[in-house]
Amino acid sequence: MINGMNNRDLAARDLARVWHPCTQMKDHEHYPLIPIRRGSGVWLEDFDGNRYLDAISSWWVNLFGHANPDINRAVAAQLESLEHVILAGFTHEPVVRLSEKLAALAPPGLERCFYAENGSAAIEIALKMSFHYWRNRGYYDKTEFISLSNSYHGETLGALAVGDVPLYKDTYQPLLMRTRTVTGPDCYYREQGESWQAYSQRRVADMEAALARHAETVCAVIVEPLVQCAGYMRMYHPVYLRELRGLCDRYQVHLIADECAVGFGRTGSFFACEQADISPDFLCLAKGLTGGYLPLSAVLTGDGVYRQFYDDYETLRGFLHSHSYTGNALGCAAALASLELFESRDVINANRALARHMSTALERFHDHPHVAEVRQTGMIAAVELVADKASRQAYPWQQRRGVRVYQHALQNQTLLRPLGNVVYFMPPYVITPDQLQRVAQVAWDGVNLATAD
Ligand SMILES: *Cc1c(COP(=O)(O)O)cnc(C)c1O
Repeated sequence: MINGMNNRDLAARDLARVWHPCTQMKDHEHYPLIPIRRGSGVWLEDFDGNRYLDAISSWWVNLFGHANPDINRAVAAQLESLEHVILAGFTHEPVVRLSEKLAALAPPGLERCFYAENGSAAIEIALKMSFHYWRNRGYYDKTEFISLSNSYHGETLGALAVGDVPLYKDTYQPLLMRTRTVTGPDCYYREQGESWQAYSQRRVADMEAALARHAETVCAVIVEPLVQCAGYMRMYHPVYLRELRGLCDRYQVHLIADECAVGFGRTGSFFACEQADISPDFLCLAKGLTGGYLPLSAVLTGDGVYRQFYDDYETLRGFLHSHSYTGNALGCAAALASLELFESRDVINANRALARHMSTALERFHDHPHVAEVRQTGMIAAVELVADKASRQAYPWQQRRGVRVYQHALQNQTLLRPLGNVVYFMPPYVITPDQLQRVAQVAWDGVNLATAD
């Protein structure tokens, strides 16, 4: 009991009024809702005084821990001078500085930053900009998009349309624009003994065939570089991105890199695209952009795209898209503070060492009788549970084995929130090797419990 409030009372008031995201609310008849009172570093604390190590960075947004003193200070300082101002016709220093910084950090040729408030909105913007670019150039037949199987780009209708996770998409299918889905390079499906590189390379042929047939009607190919996070943390080799860049150039189609989840050091490089040494035509950023503090997203593109919109007003070639909180000053201040931490702490190098610790901590899962695969890309690792190891036969989804791992972890001071039967680890960068070891132990016990029958 803290300040006269406890978990039970606050949860009851919540459940009488709040509708939660990505949740069948009836589940809360069985599973407790957990009211969080405060956070500090990797820890969250509830109103009964229980602590939880946030091993999933609160849905992949947090980079430097909760209530990080440096980001707190920057946001508080910004609050003293300007909380927000309309970004049409006006500007402010944080948005200018952030745009300069993002353009400097991004792969070459991405000089222009357009802002929104979340990842889905960034995707909508990239799709609209790509379509509108081709239209401004007189390519009126380009009205379609190609995306990969098992991809996820957000929940608004346009973003959902280019995604391919049935759980989120199928119900809304009648509302969605038609898109083309091409089998992706997801290395879970490689042959035994086949390397990630060989498999991902082999999958390029399908994309080439699709582009050869449909390029004239396609605006862009949209991909999540290296890791399909919401798609069960499936991963692939950078060679696919390299080949895809070449194909998009050859067939005159844009490449949209959705780094909403993988940007900002998650995959071992600052942006995942760097590992393929490519520049996309549009780079979508969200989640980690503000270090997990405030809703802010950005779409970066090049001057070549920008110039196709730059004209006299009456030509109506301008990009007249907007969101109320576009370029919010507090969000920009948090983002700038987070980016400064990358420099002052040499985070990318430090993460390489942390990623090795993560890999060591998960070593024992390889031989678990119900683990089909342990995979890792930088600071993202995943363990895929199956009913049968040899045939990789999946557990029926209705059994919700992952939820058992989630419940076990909560009872052991850990926040792990599996995707279906995939237990994954995406911790804040301030986690210690000892804490990684602890998380792995909790996950190990949880997986044993969840696969015992
Ligand atoms: C989370 C995510 C989005 C959507 O971002 P929201 O801020 O949740 O709307 C888009 N693309 C990818 C790859 C994501 O992981």
